[in-house]
This record gives sequence, C-alpha cells and structure tokens, in this order.
Amino acid sequence: MTQGTTPGPLGLDPLLLEVLACPDTHHSPLTVDEAASELLCTTCDRAFPVRNGIPVLLLDEARRRGGTGTDTP
Ligand SMILES: [Zn+2]
Repeated sequence: MTQGTTPGPLGLDPLLLEVLACPDTHHSPLTVDEAASELLCTTCDRAFPVRNGIPVLLLDEARRRGGTGTDTP
C-alpha cells in the first residue's frame, strides 16, 4: 500500500512528469504551465494540452507558442 502520493500540477503524477518528453525528435523534457493546463516544450515552443489529467503528447494536437502570435487571440 502506497500512501501520501500527492498529485502534482494538473493532477499529473510527478513520476509521470519526470518521464514525459516532447514527441518530436529532440525528446526534450516538458515543463508544466498550470495556468494554461498545458505541457510546454522549451525546445520547439510547442504546448501540449492536458485533458482529464492525461497529457496529449501528439504533434497534431500541439499548439505553437510564442513567435508571431497570429493564432487565436
Ligand atoms: Zn519539442
């Protein structure tokens, strides 16, 4: 019985967060943006959504951050 496992940001398992990586070829570690409920890759500036506590690490689902900002306001 393991107890005391406090959920991490966005309800994600801290151990899971440690092994999460960008699905792109660089496989960079991801950082959590709690305000946006997203996981950020600092290498390619993609943001991956977290839905129902499950990170969606798909390039098709990723959102490009930074840059020109011609996306949705
Ligand atoms: Zn990346």
